[in-house]
Amino acid sequence: MGTGTESLKGKTAIVTGSNSGIGLGIARSFAEAGLRVVLNSYTDREDDHALARDMAAEFGTEVRYISADLSDGDAARRLVREAGACDVLVNNAGIQHVAGIEEFPAAKWDAIIAINMSSAFHTTAEALPMMRKAGWGRVINIASAHGLTASPYKSAYVAAKHGVVGMTKVVALETAEEPITANAICPGYVMTPLVESQIPDTMEKYGMDRETAIRDVLLTRQPSKEFATTDQLGGTALFLCSDHAAQITGTTISVDGGWTAL
Ligand code: NAD
Repeated sequence: MGTGTESLKGKTAIVTGSNSGIGLGIARSFAEAGLRVVLNSYTDREDDHALARDMAAEFGTEVRYISADLSDGDAARRLVREAGACDVLVNNAGIQHVAGIEEFPAAKWDAIIAINMSSAFHTTAEALPMMRKAGWGRVINIASAHGLTASPYKSAYVAAKHGVVGMTKVVALETAEEPITANAICPGYVMTPLVESQIPDTMEKYGMDRETAIRDVLLTRQPSKEFATTDQLGGTALFLCSDHAAQITGTTISVDGGWTAL
């Protein structure tokens, strides 16, 4: 039966926010499967371009880095146009801010809604005509367990991620009779550099050892008591691109160790 990914070789994937964390894990899985990959962030550092060169050399495929600040809708659209092709679009870029509603800075609300949600609208609007022309496409939105459930102090993030899940369904319905699918992946806690950096602070704040801080503080909502990995997210995204997933559209796949089963 194969992995259903053989036909992906040479297709072009844009992964937003892919110079670290989950986006990078997904980009690496795609490059390994022989897709051409467009990496993105807003940083435009020499390191970002070097990352693209190193990944291209490691996997023997084309990897480019295109800088775009996705808080700006026009820049999000330019990213897709500059890529020139987009068979697979992964809307992954995201930021977080934690504060009660009354204290939540309006500028942070606007930035989170723009980067975590509206950018996916702009990139999708620009990418769909390319997918239609190519006769195939995959839209994969990286939402969150917070696209399906809520936590206090994360109003903008929870609103944006619920919005992304809703928009995913609309894109799926608008493309339902075409060989294009749109789905959202909803990770729970994933081990990324950002999460790793929270561990020492948590240990200090609660006077706990590393294992207890992870189990009882960071992973309280994650019944498996294990982080998901960026490789697992890469594998899930690759599956959604595979032939086996052609009839999976308009839905969410949780990678959350049981979080949303609670
Ligand atoms: P990360 O901080 O490692 O990566 C975020 C990426 O987004 C980076 O590449 C960053 O450069 C990019 N980005 C931020 N602002 C941007 C902007 N204005 N324009 C362009 N790019 C921008 O974080 P991560 O944990 O890998 O998160 C990736 C996605 O996964 C986010 O949407 C996040 O909400 C979601 N997520 C993460 C977790 C987790 O536990 N790490 C859980 C659920 C969902």
